[in-house]
Amino acid sequence: MSSSNQQTSAPASSQGASLAPRACRGGRRRITILGSTGSIGQSTTDLLSFASANGGAGHEVVALTANRNVEMLGEQARRFRPEFVAVADEGLGEDLRAALAGLDIETGAGPAAIEEAASRDADWVMAAIVGAAGLKPTLKAAERGADIALANKECLVCAGDVVTAAVAKAGGALLPVDSEHNAIFQVFDFERPQRISRLILTASGGPFRTWTKDEMAAATPAQAVAHPNWSMGAKISVDSATMMNKGLELIEAAHIFPVGHDRIEILVHPQSVIHSMVEYVDGSVLAQLGAPDMRTPIASTLAWPDRMESPSARLNLAQVATLTFEDPDIERFSALRLAREAIAAGGVMPAALNAANEIAVAAFLDGAIKFLDIAAITEQVLEMTGRRNRSASLSTLEEAIDADAIARQMARECVAARAAA
Ligand code: NDP
Repeated sequence: MSSSNQQTSAPASSQGASLAPRACRGGRRRITILGSTGSIGQSTTDLLSFASANGGAGHEVVALTANRNVEMLGEQARRFRPEFVAVADEGLGEDLRAALAGLDIETGAGPAAIEEAASRDADWVMAAIVGAAGLKPTLKAAERGADIALANKECLVCAGDVVTAAVAKAGGALLPVDSEHNAIFQVFDFERPQRISRLILTASGGPFRTWTKDEMAAATPAQAVAHPNWSMGAKISVDSATMMNKGLELIEAAHIFPVGHDRIEILVHPQSVIHSMVEYVDGSVLAQLGAPDMRTPIASTLAWPDRMESPSARLNLAQVATLTFEDPDIERFSALRLAREAIAAGGVMPAALNAANEIAVAAFLDGAIKFLDIAAITEQVLEMTGRRNRSASLSTLEEAIDADAIARQMARECVAARAAA
């Protein structure tokens, strides 16, 4: 960590400047959940059920989506009676119709149907699809001015300027769900960003925080997804094990908050109690704390700027007793270095980082490559992208999709080469 002797000049980046929260609609909301069957999606439906059972706002659900989990999507649709439900897998359209037979609910299948769900008239959209697959639907919802509860960090990493410009233009609010960004959002003075000297993103360190590099080399998918504090989907769990998750969050934070990426630091805090911190120029450090339960940040975005009751676990500091902190080990967790290099280079590099990581994580979960290959492949793809078009800009959706597709292809070739070795 650098010392607190920070410059107090204007932020190095003006990204996010237009994302200062505006008056939200609050109260009863019309809600869509993109990725309702995932870990974040289920925490969100949990909160909706809790709110209606406990006299809270009776929110109306407009649309729900999944990739392939027709059974859970059908159960959620029967519970919340949305107008529209969709699966991304085109081949499962008939199964979805059959699951909802007799109910007055429209159904759709395929990526266009997910975008259709995002286009429906909800005023609060939970963006909880995993990976760059969430980009187009999130953008659709942003473009029509919905408030976006953003869990899908990958869409900001691969097309941050495009997404934030769409939110700012259409006038919705960008409400960060990621616990770190939600923590910062709660203590960030958007009216005086120049009075902020740095953001401190905390990181649990993941399941391999204390492992040697040799031990990490032999890590299995089951060990990588066994996060010590959080229960999450498989992809983000592996990202936590490589610490690429923190790298993606660094890029995400640089897009949401008007503070240059060079003023965003990472601090390992294994207890996951302090969810992140903002340091002001006078040395004051403001933090948000809570038990590691995603229903807390989700509830904060659902009720924002108000607060709602939530069934979240409560923080018992006497029981936690000790909070510890350490610097991240960039040598063992090289993903952190790669993310910093990608955001410093800008242009297509963050999109390439994200795409390569997605392909490599999927290959690791499939047993095709080893754990340390994930960061190695991502680095290889960044090098190839840099040689090919390091200076290429990325300011449109089409450019983001192109950069993503090219990096995915490179990553697939790297995976094949390693798998064959
Ligand atoms: P999960 O894997 O648990 O859920 C992902 C959701 O997206 C599921 O509904 C899944 O459907 C759907 N989905 C997957 N692929 C596609 C696709 N190609 N097209 C459309 N839908 C798809 O992920 P998480 O809930 O853990 O994470 C979601 C996002 O939130 C990620 O970006 C993650 O980084 C972020 N996040 C998650 C946190 C957590 O605690 N889980 C914390 C902070 C951020 P199906 O169920 O059918 O596969």
